[in-house]
Amino acid sequence: MNILVEADGLHKRYGKVVAVQNFSHRFAPGKITAILGPSGSGKSTTLAMISGLAEPDRGCIRLDGTDITRLPAERRDFGLVFQNYSLFPHLNVLENVEFGLRVRGVRKAERRSRAFASLERVHISHLAGRRIHQISGGEQQRVALARALVFNPRVLLLDEPLSALDAKLREILRNELGRLLRELSITAIYVTHDQVEAMSLAYEMIIMHGGRIEQSGTPLEVYTRPATPFVATFLGSANLLEGECLVVNGETRLRLPFGELPAPMGAQTGPCRVMVRPEDIVIAADGDGQLHGEVTSSVFLGSQARLTVSAGGCSLAVDASNEAIPTPGAAVSLRVREAKLCIMPKGE
Ligand code: ADP
Repeated sequence: MNILVEADGLHKRYGKVVAVQNFSHRFAPGKITAILGPSGSGKSTTLAMISGLAEPDRGCIRLDGTDITRLPAERRDFGLVFQNYSLFPHLNVLENVEFGLRVRGVRKAERRSRAFASLERVHISHLAGRRIHQISGGEQQRVALARALVFNPRVLLLDEPLSALDAKLREILRNELGRLLRELSITAIYVTHDQVEAMSLAYEMIIMHGGRIEQSGTPLEVYTRPATPFVATFLGSANLLEGECLVVNGETRLRLPFGELPAPMGAQTGPCRVMVRPEDIVIAADGDGQLHGEVTSSVFLGSQARLTVSAGGCSLAVDASNEAIPTPGAAVSLRVREAKLCIMPKGE
């Protein structure tokens, strides 16, 4: 169901708090878009405006070009999945899925067959007669999804659907949910504060900060080319360095605290901020890296180690393989993957 949802200049204030300002986005039809940001950044308010549970002060929402800003939530045909699936323990799986249809007065035979078809879409029709406590967390998630799908929603809205779960189960269900949503190819808007969840599930991400969109793009674009220091540090670890691009002998060079490198393509001359991820600073085993420094801390993280290295007047986060982890005090030679440097305008 390739429905186009467009938000245009959404604005919402609660008393003195501006929860969302000027939120505009065309959500990719048939794909998962994650709205990601720290707590209080306006994600849920944005979703509430899209769903019709909150009315925007300004701006509009369009569905395939039709303005639905004033349409009540129940007439938008959106499926909602929330944090704690809020399934009814006294009803079985099928009854949970048909509940909404019963409330709307749909006849028994029809609601049974629709609920059953919805369970089939998420591959759990064989669990129709089970009680909620007799099925696993993953199956409960599918019931919640089936319950949202039973109305044939045009769009699926999910608000932190996995946040109540522990880390391991969360990872399993995240993968499962991603597979199901992609299989359904429904336009889905997924709110989360979890970076990994957003990056692994979403076709596109919208990063919010202080009620505004800070950046949007594919996970790879946003991770490798963050537009602002906030996005750089929110999405994983980042070294942020002061730099300057300047022309030397006709060639644009990037001057960093620890030396000069050829500037990335398209770099503008002048002062700038430069981001480099810890995984893009490599320990040069042969000692002939671009900069030399001393390890000040070393933290074992299982699959790798995170070092802090004092080099060229900077304190740099550097990832090291877990095979040979330098200890504090060790001298290391580092090489920066120049192609991975990301230049941001100064002053952001
Ligand atoms: P998020 O989902 O990113 O955690 P929210 O959209 O819930 O953020 O909240 C954005 C801001 O709006 C926060 O400062 C929050 O305190 C405020 N806010 C949200 N809902 C209400 C409300 N019903 N009344 C007053 N303030 C609210």
